[in-house]
Amino acid sequence: MAEKLVIIGSGPAGYTAGLYASRALLEPLLFAGYASGGQLMLTSDVENYPGYPEGIQGPEMMIELRAQAERFGTRILDLNVDSVDLSRRPFGVTSGKDSWDAEALIIATGAEAIWLDAENEELHKGRGISTCATCDGAFFRDKEVMVVGGGDSAMEEATFLTRFCPKVTIVHRREGLRASQIMAQRARDNSRIAWKLDRTVTSWLGEEGDFRGAVLRSTVDGSEEDFACGGAFIAIGHKPLTGFLAGQLEMDDHNYLLWKQHTMTSVPGVFAAGDVVDTRYKQAVTAAGMGCMAAIDAEKWLEAQ
Ligand SMILES: Cc1cc2nc3c(=O)[nH]c(=O)nc-3n(C[C@H](O)[C@H](O)[C@H](O)COP(=O)(O)OP(=O)(O)OC[C@H]3O[C@@H](n4cnc5c(N)ncnc54)[C@H](O)[C@@H]3O)c2cc1C
Repeated sequence: MAEKLVIIGSGPAGYTAGLYASRALLEPLLFAGYASGGQLMLTSDVENYPGYPEGIQGPEMMIELRAQAERFGTRILDLNVDSVDLSRRPFGVTSGKDSWDAEALIIATGAEAIWLDAENEELHKGRGISTCATCDGAFFRDKEVMVVGGGDSAMEEATFLTRFCPKVTIVHRREGLRASQIMAQRARDNSRIAWKLDRTVTSWLGEEGDFRGAVLRSTVDGSEEDFACGGAFIAIGHKPLTGFLAGQLEMDDHNYLLWKQHTMTSVPGVFAAGDVVDTRYKQAVTAAGMGCMAAIDAEKWLEAQ
């Protein structure tokens, strides 16, 4: 028998969709993926999720969200979905050798920040190097930091960081910026922002837990210099996890899913929530909100069928 609702993804969007759908008695089946818990498993303090006045550790919060979804009957499989077949009804969902049928689907597979993969990056991920100024900027108060990237998001992150940091240096591999003129000008006009253009990061400096800066290499003459700072933000983009959909849903140029009607995608009965659809906010609370919206939309859609 077909599942009424299958949810793919176990970040704040997936678990919140599970919570709402199970309370609506849809008995959802949720595929958590191998990296269950999503992006917040990679961070320590979360200080901006409502309801935790003292803040909470990311992994702890995800354990609680999972327990809350399970409490009302969400069934969770710690499996990755390899493919879906949206050309038939019910939809097909495959993981390894097993497959399931689903009347409705919620895609909540999130996005991954793109890292530089410079030497020693693993040592400092989440402790010295971040990919989210909105999330982590306040932890770098009064420190000099660098932002890597030349697009709008790098300009935005750098400008935002000047609220906390006396000096923010933008490092970009070319002289020209990809950012829109208005964003680039705003950064240029900011006296707290400095520039290191025509340079790439070859490695990060400092022992684990003691971030010290980066080695920068000139893309013009190959010369290298040590650049000391107290933190780094990588802002070179995100990659939504939509590869397993094999182009069966409409996406934008960067492979983010598109909503067509409320949270419904281009295929009726398939809904999307969280960072997989979000090119702008990318926060736990917004992902959770979209998970709630998708569950309500799925419930109404199923009822109308
Ligand atoms: C280091 C870091 C710190 C952050 N700090 C904060 C913060 O302080 N506050 C804040 O609000 N936000 C923070 N964020 C952003 C926040 O984590 C994201 O906005 C949020 O997690 C997005 O939730 P999501 O449910 O859309 O996706 P995700 O959290 O990305 O979860 C997606 C899930 O889907 C699973 N998945 C993917 N593909 C498949 C598949 N094929 N089959 C099955 N499962 C699959 C993944 O394994 C993952 O579990 C931070 C992000 C990072 C990286």
